[in-house]
Amino acid sequence: MSEKLVEVHDLFKWFPVQKSFLETLLARKLDYIRAVDGIDFEVRRGEVFGLAGESGSGKTTTGRLILRLIEPTRGGIFFDGRNVLTVNGEEMRRLRQRMQLIFQDPYASLNPRMKIGTAIGHGLEIHGIAKGQRERDLVIQMMERVGLTPAATLYEKYPHQLSGGQRQRAVIARALILHPDLIVADEPIAMADVSVRALILHLMMELKEEFDLTYLFITHDLATAKYICDRIAIMYLGKIVESGPLREVYSHPQHPYTEALLSAVPVPNPRARREHIIPKGEIPSPINPPSGCRFHPRCPYAMEICSKDEPRFAGTKDGHLVACHLRR
Ligand code: SF4
Repeated sequence: MSEKLVEVHDLFKWFPVQKSFLETLLARKLDYIRAVDGIDFEVRRGEVFGLAGESGSGKTTTGRLILRLIEPTRGGIFFDGRNVLTVNGEEMRRLRQRMQLIFQDPYASLNPRMKIGTAIGHGLEIHGIAKGQRERDLVIQMMERVGLTPAATLYEKYPHQLSGGQRQRAVIARALILHPDLIVADEPIAMADVSVRALILHLMMELKEEFDLTYLFITHDLATAKYICDRIAIMYLGKIVESGPLREVYSHPQHPYTEALLSAVPVPNPRARREHIIPKGEIPSPINPPSGCRFHPRCPYAMEICSKDEPRFAGTKDGHLVACHLRR
């Protein structure tokens, strides 16, 4: 059994920009949104690996690529040593059972015309694990485990009849019922009420221990990541700019973008002062990203070299990696 559950090598996903027929005829070349633009990382078995960054950084696309919900432009994705991009349909179906997704918006990810119990048990039928009474028993058991009670009553309800917190528990139950190894959790508490966010996170961490799970935790919120991640990678405009053990990255951020994101994380001591660093301007377009270091138009420390040469992603210490000319 490999210690690395997921390995991502030089992964790219470029989406062609949709244009009118006339624009396509007149254009000399196609434009692409460079959503993911050459990233490498690994997720170790049993850990919570955070993928963090602003909206548009490429983190959600990365999660979908790993589950092969979309095909990459190029690159390699390995799950438990298997090349996800070369397996055949039947093997992929078996692998999918081991990799599940918790969506950001539970309401949108549940079929409005399907009862909650049926939605949770659907995967059991698709993968030929259980049906009929056995399926119902397993669903009820899982609903009780995730706190969807009274399970027999909620089994018969439709998504719109549940609260936001209950719907989030339902999508967690649906992901867990197949006993996966990996859960890609895409902003799993972003749509939940503030009052239930901590409860959902706590539940996810309990389930991780109980079901021996590995999480790829996608978030824009570094305050949340701080409480659950073991390691973290920070994405900016389709690139990973910094990664490493969470404590190391949070206590000694090496990239100015990470520094800025962390300066916005509230500190427990209300008397403690921290300067809030706000990067200049807006996040640039991923269609035509800045040359050299992509952060250079917004970086307070930008030097001449920054707009010309792309900084290499290299290690400082203890697996702490950064792409910045300041650290060479
Ligand atoms: Fe700033 Fe230059 Fe480092 Fe980019 S490489 S983050 S522009 S100092």
